[in-house]
Amino acid sequence: MSIFPSKYFRLFACCVPVKGARRSLIADLQRHHYQFIPNALYEILTQQCEYQPFHEIAAKFSEEDQGTLASYFQMLTENEFGFWIAQAEKGFFPDLELTWDYPAKITNLILEVDPTSGSNVNYSSLFEQIDLLGTKDVLIQYTSGPPDDFVEIYRFFQNKLLKNIEIRCLFDETKPEDYWEKFLDTYRRVNQLTVYGAPFSRDKKLNLEPPTILTYKKEKLIKKWNSSSRAIAFTVNIKSFSEAQTHNLFFNRKLAIDSKGFMKNFLSQETHYGNINEISVAEVIQSPAYQEYWDVDKNKIEICKDCEFRFFCVDALPPVKKNASLWQRPFSCEYDPYSAKWPNELTFP
Ligand code: SF4
Repeated sequence: MSIFPSKYFRLFACCVPVKGARRSLIADLQRHHYQFIPNALYEILTQQCEYQPFHEIAAKFSEEDQGTLASYFQMLTENEFGFWIAQAEKGFFPDLELTWDYPAKITNLILEVDPTSGSNVNYSSLFEQIDLLGTKDVLIQYTSGPPDDFVEIYRFFQNKLLKNIEIRCLFDETKPEDYWEKFLDTYRRVNQLTVYGAPFSRDKKLNLEPPTILTYKKEKLIKKWNSSSRAIAFTVNIKSFSEAQTHNLFFNRKLAIDSKGFMKNFLSQETHYGNINEISVAEVIQSPAYQEYWDVDKNKIEICKDCEFRFFCVDALPPVKKNASLWQRPFSCEYDPYSAKWPNELTFP
């Protein structure tokens, strides 16, 4: 028996309910997953559990519905989403503080490198600047040529603030697996290397510190996201969930630089905000134009504001401004929160 009728039910602080138009969910921010719940249960959890013990809540329902209600709370306790407390303990369990900040002006850099393009991008200056801005994560995407041509990049970061370098590159049959393993062993800041267009798909966890993954994918490297790319990912953790309350997870404090050195919000953006050979990164990222999408959280976007995934959905295309306070969602998403269906899905799970 996991129900205590005279007690109050309390969700763990890291299990946060989110209401959608058709269904709700509990985002388990510590265990990185979510569980769908009906909207009726969301209302009970957020409006009644604080003030009433279970037996008082149950008394408002018919006998048949009391069985359903009991099964909901059984599920919540069995899945360790919450616990039962006495009235006297009610003030001891505050909600999670969901404010967000981060000690870096730019948290992530996406850098496109094309060694065959003949461009004269000043990478040394760029990386000095990135280090000063406190950036911890860099994704380097090589659209041609081998990534080991740019070893000065990885050497530069060996003793810097930056923690993680992810490399995406094209398959090259002259570079076998053990070649990349040696490369990753030498440049430890690179902790993920994905080789695209390979004849096979495989993930290999290397026995290195920090944990490092060498991945081969048969798929082609997507050089630029566009409106037909399905570019949505869900990231369920405290940091993103807090950031998503007031910011756009894909754009906030992110910087993309294309192979010619033009600074953008994302690589396929047609607009650019200057070239790193002519203007400093710091100058660009503090301009209101560059920051246009940073604070467009999903509550400001039509349809997304009614979606239960809105606090951990990362979509890689910009919203479109509708009026001063409302935006339209990117075309890349086809989820319908009003029916809780993805395209071709007949019923919601
Ligand atoms: S409607 Fe689509 S883009 Fe918007 S929050 Fe939901 S899944 Fe994400």
